[in-house]
Amino acid sequence: MRRKLCLLLIIVLLGTGNCAFTWKLPKAELPEASIVLDINGEVINGLTRENQINLEREQIPQDFVNAIIAVEDKNFYRHLGVDPVGIARALITNIKYRKILAGGSTITQQTAKNLYLSNEKTFIRKIKELVYAIQLERKYSKDKILTMYCNTIYFGEGAYGVEVAARTFFARRAEQLSLAQCALLAGLPNSPGNYDPYLHPDAAKKRQAIVLQRMLEEGKIDLKQKEVALQEKLIYDRNSSVAGEAPYFTALVKDYLIDKYGQRMVYQGGLRIYTTLDLDMQKSANQAVVTGLKGQDEEMQVALVALDVRNGHLRAMVGGRNFSRSSYNRVFSLRQPGSTFKPFMYSLAIDQGFTPADTIMCEEVSYKLSNGKIYRPTDYGSKPYHWRPFTLKEAVMLSDNVVAVQVNDILGPKNTAKYIERFGFPDLSPVLSLPLGPIAVKPIEMAAAYATFANRGVYSKPIYILKITDKRGQVLEENHISQKPVIEKENAYIICDMLKGVLEPGGTGSHLKKIIGRSAAGKTGTTDEYQDAWFTGFTPRLCCSVWVGYDMNRNVNLTGGAIAGPIWANFMREASVGAPDEDFDRPAGVDIVNICLDSGLVATEACPRAIEMAFYQGTEPEDICYYHLSGLEFLLKNEDNSTERPQLSY
Ligand SMILES: [Zn+2]
Ligand SMILES: [Zn+2]
Repeated sequence: MRRKLCLLLIIVLLGTGNCAFTWKLPKAELPEASIVLDINGEVINGLTRENQINLEREQIPQDFVNAIIAVEDKNFYRHLGVDPVGIARALITNIKYRKILAGGSTITQQTAKNLYLSNEKTFIRKIKELVYAIQLERKYSKDKILTMYCNTIYFGEGAYGVEVAARTFFARRAEQLSLAQCALLAGLPNSPGNYDPYLHPDAAKKRQAIVLQRMLEEGKIDLKQKEVALQEKLIYDRNSSVAGEAPYFTALVKDYLIDKYGQRMVYQGGLRIYTTLDLDMQKSANQAVVTGLKGQDEEMQVALVALDVRNGHLRAMVGGRNFSRSSYNRVFSLRQPGSTFKPFMYSLAIDQGFTPADTIMCEEVSYKLSNGKIYRPTDYGSKPYHWRPFTLKEAVMLSDNVVAVQVNDILGPKNTAKYIERFGFPDLSPVLSLPLGPIAVKPIEMAAAYATFANRGVYSKPIYILKITDKRGQVLEENHISQKPVIEKENAYIICDMLKGVLEPGGTGSHLKKIIGRSAAGKTGTTDEYQDAWFTGFTPRLCCSVWVGYDMNRNVNLTGGAIAGPIWANFMREASVGAPDEDFDRPAGVDIVNICLDSGLVATEACPRAIEMAFYQGTEPEDICYYHLSGLEFLLKNEDNSTERPQLSY
């Protein structure tokens, strides 16, 4: 230990004594950026340092210069690169605690470290840092060193240099920063993680006060300026060029990487991250969200997530209305799915021998629950009941609640809850109203669950990072798709067919078919009081879930079909440009029959409302609809039936 101490002192003496010194400065080795690539090898902006911008000395605000000197190295203009007192103090601390602690670093030393050295804490590195610092001082002017420092210093959130920091935290150029903002930024480099304004605004604000106090002590500002700066409200906001075109996705990747590999590796280690995102689809998603929410309240939020149904690859992700204002990713937030939950129960119904042509009356029914309460499911809309029979397919198309609850009662809520687990929803409560979605699920779970129907009954776990390599090309990790057949392909096809009906005339999504313009299936959902508006649906290749609502309990006052549906349809159309318009692959064991919607029997020309339905071979109805042939259709109606049919907007 004593030897090391001596060595350090000699070096310090050499430097301060301005002796001839021969250790040459190495070539500046700037940290290597990590690169995030989409599925086609395109670079996704937002994580990497391609945005790094070097400023000239005159472009760096004087307030920032004063602030950073006051808080990091108040003797900067007086010392010769190293601060012997600081080093001695750090050395004593180091010896006392028998490890290398940070501290005692002048701005010149930090610059030397940023330019030439790794972050490891060893004595050798510390000595090199001192030597290089002294060399820097001999070679460059103070202003030049300061400029290099301001351009290389790390502020957190991936921001190196004051210009990128200004854009990352205040969505503006460095030259536009106020004193309050300069002081805030100058406080960050000391501990970017702990003072991250987005994560720890209170700590950042306290740190700003310390910086302002130091500036006051150094005579760089007066008391009045300090008070004004302290009062200034700080609004943290990212410039869109910093966030990139897939900001929520990039943040997701970044969080994963930092958690696993650490900040330094992510921002300086030259990683290559191969992801599943498709930037073209992402742009379609961004556009569909902007178009779909135009004119809506600014606080209204949105989540869109699209998966490739064949492998669970995440292709596009929008986690909110405006990443700069709120980086919270709503693709992972728990919301009530409403009627978008119905298809999972109908899948069990088909599994248990129901067919899409089976009819159930929509009429007043009541159930005594185990808590003694009476539960009376009603439809949504102007009338509580339709007072007529529904085939199950039409019940899905119109999103009838009363029929769905009756089916669940027949199946047994426990069986339904257990069955739905296979779609990625464990631990559902076995309640009678389960098909109406009284539970909380994530949009990404909904997308993965619906993709099962599109992918012949095979569930694929969502995946977004395929491979990560280090800067030498060594593979650090590789992720593989994870798939499991969970329902029969015939069952999946029959549900697809029922969900295609939603986009047909009479369905709650009939207005979307024209927009998407290709074979597709999906389901609307709107929860009580219009708090959550959903549309989840798919083509044979792509599955997308869209949620619209508020972060806090507020009503959207729009249905899923009205607000989420068009976003979904616009996205699906644009994301599918160039892909063939293929229909769902019908398994050999499925037959298609034209069915009368009033009777559930094989339709004849006399039937006013008929639609094609899919059946397990041999389960289709045998009888033709004799009601309409013989004029007995009045038998199909309940005595209380009114001729007027309430339009469901669920
Ligand atoms: Zn009804
Ligand atoms: Zn008929």
